[in-house]
Formats: sequence, structure tokens, C-alpha cells
Amino acid sequence: MKILVPVKRVVDYNVKVRVKSDHTGMDIANVKMSMNPFDEIAIEESVRLKEAGVATEIIAISCGVAQCQETLRTAMAIGADRGILVETDVELQPLAVAKLLKAIADREQPSLIILGKQAIDDDCNQTGQMLASLLGWPQATFASKVVVADGKVSVTREVDGGLETLSLTLPAIVTTDLRLNEPRYVTLPNIMKAKKKQLDNLKPGDLGVDVTPRVKTLKVVEPAQRSAGMIVPDVATLVAKLKNEAKVI
Ligand code: AMP
Repeated sequence: MKILVPVKRVVDYNVKVRVKSDHTGMDIANVKMSMNPFDEIAIEESVRLKEAGVATEIIAISCGVAQCQETLRTAMAIGADRGILVETDVELQPLAVAKLLKAIADREQPSLIILGKQAIDDDCNQTGQMLASLLGWPQATFASKVVVADGKVSVTREVDGGLETLSLTLPAIVTTDLRLNEPRYVTLPNIMKAKKKQLDNLKPGDLGVDVTPRVKTLKVVEPAQRSAGMIVPDVATLVAKLKNEAKVI
């Protein structure tokens, strides 16, 4: 069973990003970039499926600038067998990424595609759903448990008020939630081994996909500054303040 795992290069989650002075976007020049955390969970899950003898090959895919190669090398150090870079300098939006991934899925014929539930830079939470629609495959988003058996994948999802378990017929799309697993640390020997793994380089044109953005960002602004809070000594004071000062009760 072949698994595709799309991995996005994003600003590291520890970086506090700033809005550019001309309000056209975020200033990400010279900031640390890493693999989207939900994609690390997706790679880890697919490696566990391979270790359990369920999967035979894991292919990591990244779409974007040439430096996405580093993200693919990390995915291969965790355990992906090979990588595909779809290289472009165009700002990619979820629909464009979903079309690129569909074209690769048509070529590679995987049984499972595991994506992150969302990228922590754009917070779109769209690519997996769009890809499922383009391929006409079943999808289970926000997975906290994945079990593959008998041509089906059983996915436990975190939903409001509890857990829901779905059974999907393969091929299928799964998107990861935070509690699915804890990704392993990448070891130096595995980083060295990853350098020798196959990494193919494609352009969107090779896949026949037009990645021109469809959505235009008009303006990006910082959230309004919040005024400082205060600690009240007891409940009576809190109630008095809510009644007399905030006038909300
Ligand atoms: P989004 O819909 O942008 O929140 O992204 C959801 C998921 O789609 C991510 O966690 C990745 O698995 C995948 N994805 C989005 N953009 C890219 C990209 N440029 N390259 C590879 N995978 C991507």
C-alpha cells in the first residue's frame, strides 16, 4: 500500500511573525521555517503504518519554493521513502495545491493520502477536503486514530461533544489532528540516510496545473491591542465589577 503525505514548509510555530509595514502580508524574511506540525504527525502516522507492515511506500510531496526540499529531507529523515517537490515561486492557495496533489495521485495511484488538518500559516483547513472532492474519494478529517484493515480505513475523529468513528473504503483521504500521535525525533544517522533518498523535481506545468492565485489579499493588520487584565481578590468583587463596571450582568 502506497501512502502520499503532502508536507508544507511554514514559519516555525515558535516564531512571532509581524505584519509588513505596507500591510500586504506577513514579514517572513529571515525567519526560521519548519515542516507544518500537522504534516509531521501525518508522516509519523504513515511511518507507523509502514512499520506495522500495512504500508509499503511513503511518498512525501511539497509544493512551493526550492527550499521546500529541506522540508522533504526532514520527512525522509522521519521515514518517508522518497520525495516530490513541485517547485514554483507563485504563492500557492489551497485549490492550486489540491490540483497539484490530484495530478500526482493520478500518477502514483496511492491507497491513502494523509494531510495535516491545516497549515499553521494560512490556517485554511481546505486542501484535504478540496483534494477529496477533486479525486472523488471518501475523506475523514481531524483524525485522532487511524486503523487500516481489509481495504478500509477506520478513522476516529474529534468532533464537538465527543469522538466519531468512520469507516472509509480505500483509496481515501485522511487529515490529522494533534492527538493522533507524537512525532519521533529525527536522528543524525537518519538525516544522513535521507540525503541519499530519491527526490524528484517537477514544475506545475509538468502536471498541467495552472496555479494562478484565485483569492487576492486586500490588507493584513495586527489584531487590536488588548488592555491589561486584573486579578480580583474574591468572587464578590468579581460579581460587583461585572455588575457595576462592565455592566454585563
Ligand atoms: P491548508 O488547507 O492550507 O490549511 O493545508 C492543509 C494541509 O494541506 C497541510 O497540512 C498539508 O498537508 C497540505 N498542504 C497545504 N499546502 C501545501 C503545500 N504547499 N505543499 C504541500 N502540502 C500542502
